[in-house]
Amino acid sequence: MSCRESDETSRIFRGTFVHATAKEPLEICEDRILGVTDGKIQFIGGADELSSLCTEYNFIAEDVQQLNEGQFLIPGFVDTHFHAPQYPYTGTGMDLQLLGWLEKYAFPVESKYADADFAKRMYDKAVRHSLKWGTTTASYFATIHTEATLELAKVAAKRGQRAFVGKVNMDQNSPKFYIESTEESLRETERFIAELKKLNLPRITPVITPRFSPSCTVELLEGLGKLAKRYDLPIQSHMSESAEECELAVSLFPDYKNDTEVHDRSGLLTDKTYMAHCLCLSDEEIDIVRQRGCGIAHCPSSNTAVRSGMFDVRKMLNAKVKIGLGTDVAGGYQPSILDAIRQAIIVSKLLSLNKPSDYQSIEYREAFMLATLGGSQVLGLDDKIGNFEVGKEFDALLIDVCCEDSPFDVINDLYTDNIEDKVQKFLYLGDDRNIKEVYVCGERVKEPKT
Ligand SMILES: [Zn+2]
Repeated sequence: MSCRESDETSRIFRGTFVHATAKEPLEICEDRILGVTDGKIQFIGGADELSSLCTEYNFIAEDVQQLNEGQFLIPGFVDTHFHAPQYPYTGTGMDLQLLGWLEKYAFPVESKYADADFAKRMYDKAVRHSLKWGTTTASYFATIHTEATLELAKVAAKRGQRAFVGKVNMDQNSPKFYIESTEESLRETERFIAELKKLNLPRITPVITPRFSPSCTVELLEGLGKLAKRYDLPIQSHMSESAEECELAVSLFPDYKNDTEVHDRSGLLTDKTYMAHCLCLSDEEIDIVRQRGCGIAHCPSSNTAVRSGMFDVRKMLNAKVKIGLGTDVAGGYQPSILDAIRQAIIVSKLLSLNKPSDYQSIEYREAFMLATLGGSQVLGLDDKIGNFEVGKEFDALLIDVCCEDSPFDVINDLYTDNIEDKVQKFLYLGDDRNIKEVYVCGERVKEPKT
């Protein structure tokens, strides 16, 4: 992915940066400078090196942006699982479990995206809100409609977001008003890939997107596996989302042991695959997921909201499986990865109540890592984004915990919040008001408030 032209891409940030590294889930670097040119991080150094690095890299004093005491940079959030067409009904329809929820809410709304103009309007709202909450990279499910899915790609590109966009595939067990034939589904997927390529949108990547195994025949799944291989594309879907869904998958595919085998034998588990949920995997299935190099999109909000279950992040981290966070709008009711961070922590703590005393729930540092570096690993983008390293593209959020309308206070008199307290308060209490600026590939995509 290359960067689009912008005259705002040369700058130096001076102040505090917070990010995850291979060794530390949350590292705080104070009094540092970070230089960005043409969307990439050119150098990182101590503030005392400002003058020498400016000279070496040909920056001028006007390029320096000094962060104040309440401000720090973090990498942009990565949302690994977002159903863009479901955005209009976020925050509603939380009364059913998964399969009933799909029938009553998801399918009727998604079918409306046959109208590409409607799709364009709705997708613009979805992408705008995702960016507003600091998601610089999102992996979107669209619908079965090719034209509307191309609109989603165009909207994300126009707004400046980095995105994986998938045309959804469904050729069985779906309502009459929202289904495709196997042949049509494969042909339209290939057309989507070709049309998207013609649009030449450098931040947008097509992703093969079977909805989930119950809504796809083996013929379709195998055909999609071949397309992914032919075009060397990432693959996203849902796998083992709930006990109810697993039972359905087993009954529909009697020649397969479980949902994992259905995907594996169809050629859909590769090192470019990331699956949402994976709540009910056996140890044997976890081994397969790890061996194939697949990632998992952990979506705690929807797992709870449609009562699918509680994902054991600790177990998966111990198993060395790549994990990122997903909002799973609109099974998840908030298009915000900050919310996913909080819910991932809560679910992990709830799970720990029934575990041996040495079981460690995840804390905010690890949840932050999942939301940034973890997400980039799941999408196979960790050589480009996910943290602040020289040579990576600059996807970042400028956080201001002292902004006038901040939803929380930092205390500087009797009790003093140190920088770690400020970071923690933002992760637990912050919202979009604290996200002052959003950068994708060095380009500012959220303007400061005037
Ligand atoms: Zn989903």
